[in-house]
Amino acid sequence: MRNIRVNLAEKSYDILLESGILNSEAGMEAIAPFSRKGEKLAVVSDRNVRDIYGEAFIDRLRAAVPGEVFSVAIRPGEESKNLDTLSRIFDAFAEAELGRRGLVIALGGGVAGDIAGFAAACWMRGVRHIQIPTSLLAMVDSSVGGKTAVDIPAGKNLVGAFHQPSLVLVDPKLTATLPAREFASGMGEIIKYGTALSEALFRRIGTEVPGAFSPALESMIAECICLKRDVVEEDEFESGRRKLLNFGHSFGHAIEVKTGFSAYSHGAAVAAGMRIAARFGERAGVTEAGTAGRVEKLLAKYNLNIEEETKGLAEYMKRDKKAAAGGVSLVLLKRIGEAVIVEMGFSEIEKNLASLDTGSGR
Ligand code: ADP
Ligand code: ZN
Repeated sequence: MRNIRVNLAEKSYDILLESGILNSEAGMEAIAPFSRKGEKLAVVSDRNVRDIYGEAFIDRLRAAVPGEVFSVAIRPGEESKNLDTLSRIFDAFAEAELGRRGLVIALGGGVAGDIAGFAAACWMRGVRHIQIPTSLLAMVDSSVGGKTAVDIPAGKNLVGAFHQPSLVLVDPKLTATLPAREFASGMGEIIKYGTALSEALFRRIGTEVPGAFSPALESMIAECICLKRDVVEEDEFESGRRKLLNFGHSFGHAIEVKTGFSAYSHGAAVAAGMRIAARFGERAGVTEAGTAGRVEKLLAKYNLNIEEETKGLAEYMKRDKKAAAGGVSLVLLKRIGEAVIVEMGFSEIEKNLASLDTGSGR
């Protein structure tokens, strides 16, 4: 078992990673100390995950922890990451009489993790929670670092809080049941880590194409978590270096908004965004020549070399919550494994994007 320790100013916690940990003795032993006798424990999942993993997990949990376990299931999909669902989760907490010393376990993908984490952040001004990510995307990204949120009509993740988990259990075996689209989505984020932060990882992803639930995948997940941990330890509240984790996301998010969040999975949109960011960076003179070609070649190995029209993207970027009046912080590459933050005005962004669309940027 790998134990990746996260040390933050206010709180430290363990990320335990092992195939099969979900229903193992070790997993239960790790959870048990956070549950108290006479207190409630809420397991929040979406219905897909509950149907596949929920019952067996909750049975084992009931036998292993001192607290009283109840479960809450939400409708699967990003559409349910909203205030209505949050309100229904609170009703379930109230009905079960979850107290201040209770515990919330998020068992699911990024949606369940984000909303359950936010529910825990709010409930009685904050109760402890444990993240058990079940999607590849949530394993490498959203379950680590303490960002929790729900969406409102004005935008994604606009209502949220930093609320660090008390423990994260990562079981790569769970990826075996992921739909192909969701697996590829997670690979998009894994490629992001290599491209933005580690050339060694970038090379590995190119040579050891991992299948679901393989040793290669397990060690790549561990590597991404360590990279994220290092960044979060340095900059918990995203005032600087943590922004590098948004590589591919400025353009990717604009693509998601433009295509109504349905054409692409999140990781695929990020992949399309990374492709643009690499070519854009070369065009802007920030990125070493030849980098974009390497990024595209790697993305293609995972069927993620997605060509999205760049025309009009700047309009969507202007509307982003992170945009300032005249421009945005773009995450671009200096070279593979080394991302940088570049402040750029919209007129220059538009100019560079337009030059990519002519096809002459290749
Ligand atoms: P993400 O994790 O990409 O942020 P979701 O939480 O919506 O987004 O998860 C993506 C989809 O995958 C959902 O439909 C969810 O029910 C499903 N899912 C998550 N984990 C698993 C799993 N281990 N096996 C099968 N389906 C899963
Ligand atoms: Zn992302």
